Amino acid sequence: RVSGLEALADLPAETANGDSVDLMINTGLQTDILRSQEIGADGVGLFRTEIPFMMLGRFPSEEEQAKIYRNQLEAFYPRPVTMRTLDIGGDKSLEYFPIEEDNPFLGWRGLRVTLDHPEIFIVQVRAMLRASLDLNNLSIMLPMVTSVGEVEESLALIHRAVYELNEEGVRVEVPRVGVMIEVPSAVYLVKDFLSLVDFISVGSNDLTQYLLAVDRNNPRVAGIYDSMHPAVLKALKIIVSEGQQAGIPVSVCGELAGDPLGAVTLLGLGYRHLSMSGANLLRVKAVLRQIDSGWAETVASGLLNLDDPKVIRSTLQLALQKAG
Ligand code: PEP
Ligand code: MG
Repeated sequence: RVSGLEALADLPAETANGDSVDLMINTGLQTDILRSQEIGADGVGLFRTEIPFMMLGRFPSEEEQAKIYRNQLEAFYPRPVTMRTLDIGGDKSLEYFPIEEDNPFLGWRGLRVTLDHPEIFIVQVRAMLRASLDLNNLSIMLPMVTSVGEVEESLALIHRAVYELNEEGVRVEVPRVGVMIEVPSAVYLVKDFLSLVDFISVGSNDLTQYLLAVDRNNPRVAGIYDSMHPAVLKALKIIVSEGQQAGIPVSVCGELAGDPLGAVTLLGLGYRHLSMSGANLLRVKAVLRQIDSGWAETVASGLLNLDDPKVIRSTLQLALQKAG
């Protein structure tokens, strides 16, 4: 880590002109919690729940999950913790739940798996809800959403879990629920989602992969995998504008949010909630504290007129240097 940044941990995450930006972290392992406490994160924008599932070697019980989730919720209380429901398939597999497919990224992934196995989904949601008892800082986020029906089905299951627990005498409430925008179809459905959910969060890693049709893990095409591609930036603009119009918070939780150039671009496009790997948070905070949001807006709208991701990056870099 760059030395000297630690001093920023206690300073507010805001731009030079005083616009506050929510800087949250992505978690998965227990060690992510410890690190986040040194960097003053505003909460968890993405808890990748599949990571503890991968570590264990079998499906964790409701009890085991509740313990893991309680840990996260307590560590950040009263700050919000956004827990994503299981996102397996694609590049994330469980050795005890093998999925063999020719095209795993276009196959049985994320919500598709858990809606086909509502017993897995319900147990996970029950564990999250039980863990949030008397804390109420839980948000639930749905991965790989491609249609409105999937959101409705998921909401029905979440309501069922709340009902079951209430029947058992566990007084939990319906949590805040959000969807990830990480598939092209979802970009065009943002408006339809907004009447159903409390927030949306862009998974820029997958959104880049699917918009550009570039495998995010294939080194042969790594040169053309770039979240600063103009098509991705245009999609990011559409998403945030629709969220703003509906008055619903929109965040980005992919790697783009943790890249200082990406964070400046996102600020300029209108994003005020960013979630990233803890290792990048202070560096992003340092950059955002030095710039003006109006300036970022002007620069970002200029970037939308360029057509080469490399030129977009160098133009932004130059603009930042000029601004000092
Ligand atoms: C993403 O796709 O941008 C994201 C945050 O989720 P993951 O990297 O876990 O797929
Ligand atoms: Mg993703």
